[in-house]
Amino acid sequence: MKNIRNNTSANIAIPELPERISGLGEIALNLWWTWNPRGKRLFEIVNPYLWKECKQNPIAMLKKIPEEELHGLCENENFMDEYRYVRALFKQYMNDNAAYGDEEPLPIAYFCAEYGLHHSVPIYSGGLGFLAGDILKESSDMGLPMVGMGFMYPQGYVRQVIGSDGWQRGANESIDKDTAPIERVLDKDGGHFTVKVPFIDPPVYATVWKINVGRITLYLLDTDIEQNDPWDRQISSHLYTPDMHQRLRQQIVLGIGGYSVLERLGIEYSILHLNEGHPAFALFERVRTFIENEKMAMKDAIERVRATSIFTTHTPLQAATDVYGFDMMGHYFSDYWNRLGMNKEQFMSFGLNPDAPESGFNMTVFGLKMCAHRNAVSKKHCEVTKGIWKNVFSLINTSEVPIDYVTNGVHLPTWLGDELFVELDKILGENWIKMQDNPDLWLRLKDIPGSRIWDIHYACKESMVNFIRELVRRKWADEGIDPLVAMAEGVMLDPDVLTIGFARRMTGYKRPDLILHDMDRLDRIINNFERPVQVIFAGKAHPSDNPGKQILQRIFKAAQDPRFRGRIAFVEDYGESLAKYLVHGCDVWLNNPVIPLEACGTSGMKAGINGTLHCSSLDGWWPEGYNGKNGWAFGGDVANDDTDAAALYDTIEHKIVPLYYAVDEQGRPVEWIRMMKEAMGRISPAFSARRMMKDYLNKFYIPSSINAVKNVQGTGA
Ligand SMILES: *Cc1c(COP(=O)(O)O)cnc(C)c1O
Repeated sequence: MKNIRNNTSANIAIPELPERISGLGEIALNLWWTWNPRGKRLFEIVNPYLWKECKQNPIAMLKKIPEEELHGLCENENFMDEYRYVRALFKQYMNDNAAYGDEEPLPIAYFCAEYGLHHSVPIYSGGLGFLAGDILKESSDMGLPMVGMGFMYPQGYVRQVIGSDGWQRGANESIDKDTAPIERVLDKDGGHFTVKVPFIDPPVYATVWKINVGRITLYLLDTDIEQNDPWDRQISSHLYTPDMHQRLRQQIVLGIGGYSVLERLGIEYSILHLNEGHPAFALFERVRTFIENEKMAMKDAIERVRATSIFTTHTPLQAATDVYGFDMMGHYFSDYWNRLGMNKEQFMSFGLNPDAPESGFNMTVFGLKMCAHRNAVSKKHCEVTKGIWKNVFSLINTSEVPIDYVTNGVHLPTWLGDELFVELDKILGENWIKMQDNPDLWLRLKDIPGSRIWDIHYACKESMVNFIRELVRRKWADEGIDPLVAMAEGVMLDPDVLTIGFARRMTGYKRPDLILHDMDRLDRIINNFERPVQVIFAGKAHPSDNPGKQILQRIFKAAQDPRFRGRIAFVEDYGESLAKYLVHGCDVWLNNPVIPLEACGTSGMKAGINGTLHCSSLDGWWPEGYNGKNGWAFGGDVANDDTDAAALYDTIEHKIVPLYYAVDEQGRPVEWIRMMKEAMGRISPAFSARRMMKDYLNKFYIPSSINAVKNVQGTGA
């Protein structure tokens, strides 16, 4: 065994590194490297084989690497040059006073139940988490004063395993706390900082971890500790547990426990941003601290919380929000409402849904009522949201409902392919990241030769196909999977064939199997001899979503059917890493939800910025993104599987296939490449996380800051 030291500054077992490269540990413990191509390369060149073996986790790699090899690196001048360069980049990044405008907001506390940051920290389930992760990363890039709060799910990750019958089986995987890029937060005495969640009886304790996301700190609560009894230990074990009682406890820990962690750590902030209803109890705790610590009257405390809190809703379905029975609520909160100076009725009224008053305490209604700043996540979703919740505001006229929107965006440095990123550095100038939301900047794309765009894309496509084949090869060799499963999972994919990708949660409203609607027509499209098409699927069904699993099974069976010659593939275990290969490497990104149930959708943006063309019904962000030249729109305003599927086949047959296969002498599709540039130039600035965060700033963070200052002065007087 090698000497492992408990580095007190890092609080994590990183091996002792030779002095000359000791900075590697610091870089490894900040996720900044995950969105910097040079940072990624630095770890890769430490030992390319181990890098792959450790699934791009630098901490795991540094722990495995033999000591002589580390000393060897110090003698390798090429490596040392790269090390010094990346170290300087990192230092510069951490110290940069990025300017994002004239007005600076007050510090923001951002709460979310999940974060998608990197596959070495599996504390996410899907789109909501990746949005939250991108928000932290972008806030770091912009130098916004923000702190994140979430859950460390020790068994958060459900690895998808599909049997030869096509049925999804889940396998829980535990986070390896010793190699994940997380650090313990320590208390004064050097012990693991632990809080008692206020007001839960019997008491529940949570320890606190942190992740460095560039310049932002994300705190994570963990109830899997000895002080707790077994049921309590499991509060944070899985995302969105289906047991409603446990789920309520989860949300009490996240909202109230999370809030008190910030208090106890003495972290100053004035604005609270709640991403979805899960952490909304933080609002009550905020009211309580204003009443008890600042001796405010209940009414004033509520007013101050409202004026400085932001609630973002992501669900276009009333049925998808969390609702807790009044009895269950009373069980936990019967002492608590007294502390807020409320009686039961007053307390419950904050979560009372006028459309279903008997149903219980509704977390979305609560967020809408207790936050003066409310937003949906696309223009279209905003219209739908106003209609759904208008009764909460006792309004008949939908247009008057006080809900705004901030259309989601994606963190460009995270989701752009490395080669494209480096090319953009050359064409757009070194400082382009700071101007990324300016559409004029992207006019310079015309200076990249079409052939270069295509060659970069083709290289991504090849590495995607190789990656998928390699996954299957390993399973075939190590796990002895059924040959039919290997077939279905993509061994016969061909980088020269027009490739359509569909990767997202396998659930009814997203209609993953719409393209299978007419198998004969699909057969003709896929097996066109001169101009073949292949389709790659990926995505998990929620463990308790049986209809979703049936859809998945149907797709898996089609992938096994020799009639499609291995040109339909279902790739297991969709996550951050596979998502990157797919959005970089597919030619077309398909999206066909039941309108208007896709609130926004972000994978199509990730595809578009890479020149992977979006083919989508006009739902979510696409009505804002589509300009007639940067992808395709199909289907009607009201979902109908027959006509939508027919429209999809028409679009593929008459528009997509002919454009893709119209190649010049060098074999490159000239018009297609033009469209790729149009997509990149249009989608990158408008759907960047930079544009999104500027919207949050201008619409909410700055006005909230002004309110906060006014309020403090108001109470002081
Ligand atoms: C972006 C992303 C999502 C969200 O995709 P949608 O298009 O919003 O469904 C889900 N999972 C992963 C791994 C992602 O990267």
